[in-house]
Amino acid sequence: MQYKIYLSPPHMSGREMKYIQEAFDSNWIAPVGPNIEAFEEELCRYTGSEHALAVSSGTAALHLALLALGVGQGDIVLCQSLTFVATANPIMYVGATPVFIDSEPVTWNMCPDALEDAILHYISIGRKPKAVIVVHLYGMPAMLDEILYLCKKYEIPLIEDAAEALGSEYNGRKVGTFGDVGILSFNGNKIITTSGGGAMLSDNAAYLARARYLATQAREPTAHYAHREVGYNYRMSNVCAGIGRGQLEVVDERVQQRRANYLFYQTSLSKLPHASFQNGIPGLFSNRWLTALIVGDEDTLLIQNALFANRIESRPMWKPMHCQEIYKTLPRFGGSVSEGLFNRGICLPSGSNLHDDDRELIACIISDCFKT
Ligand SMILES: *Cc1c(COP(=O)(O)O)cnc(C)c1O
Repeated sequence: MQYKIYLSPPHMSGREMKYIQEAFDSNWIAPVGPNIEAFEEELCRYTGSEHALAVSSGTAALHLALLALGVGQGDIVLCQSLTFVATANPIMYVGATPVFIDSEPVTWNMCPDALEDAILHYISIGRKPKAVIVVHLYGMPAMLDEILYLCKKYEIPLIEDAAEALGSEYNGRKVGTFGDVGILSFNGNKIITTSGGGAMLSDNAAYLARARYLATQAREPTAHYAHREVGYNYRMSNVCAGIGRGQLEVVDERVQQRRANYLFYQTSLSKLPHASFQNGIPGLFSNRWLTALIVGDEDTLLIQNALFANRIESRPMWKPMHCQEIYKTLPRFGGSVSEGLFNRGICLPSGSNLHDDDRELIACIISDCFKT
């Protein structure tokens, strides 16, 4: 199936080739080189993070984040249930157990009350959680004040999965910089891309140094390749970092373009029966990576089929982790907010290069589904 309109396609700025050319001219065709260092510095400048490590994917960044925090065999990690599976899988890589936390209905992210219930339960049985992973779903910042308060109160490190949220802000500060560690993704469908890549952010130099060491095969500082630990090959390529530099120059434009999509859909579709959107509250600035439309139970399939018939890509929302075949036997806390959203939500084409006419067409097709 070749779609005419994709959900979230790459959007090049035209500035990427200059940096790729530099990589070729200097022969840094490797997972080391000047584009990587520059991209990391530029990420720090843009997000306000003290340190950044560019890696091969957001998933690798999450794996390194857990390792840097010392999470390992038998540990409990409290993880937002409503997310892409890449948030949870790295918990399994390190031999820890994910425990899934339901969402609250305002931001659709981790519910602080359910989080505290889980923390208290595991403390009461003598297994204090080793980390919390919160997600900023579709770019919408989570309730960070409440979550940070709990993490501080119970002294549990926080990892922010900001894979979808580059450019989003909480009270004027970029998300990904609130937790002990934050991660970003530059996959092809994200707000900016390196074709595939990710980054780990932290103000803690020791975490960054540890992650850098593990990402480069845990090589000791000797000439003869000495190793005392098992490492990984997780660094970003200098060519990919060049793409990232050209993309990062226009990230604020991309945020504005995606926010305009959201505003358009909200304005044209909110009158439909049972329609609602991920509204947030003042102080939460979302990059609106994807716009998800919530409708009645019966209507989601109708809309998806109508869009599909016009070769327009749409997707259900992420299926919560506690409903997934691989994770459904694991413990969970909270109610059924995430399941409700999953059953009634559709992600609409949200690319920063989405044409105005295409947007109009999508709104017409959806509205027509409700004509009797
Ligand atoms: C995309 C994504 C990831 C993983 O990033 P990759 O670069 O694809 O490995 C992790 N978490 C969330 C919420 C994502 O959307």
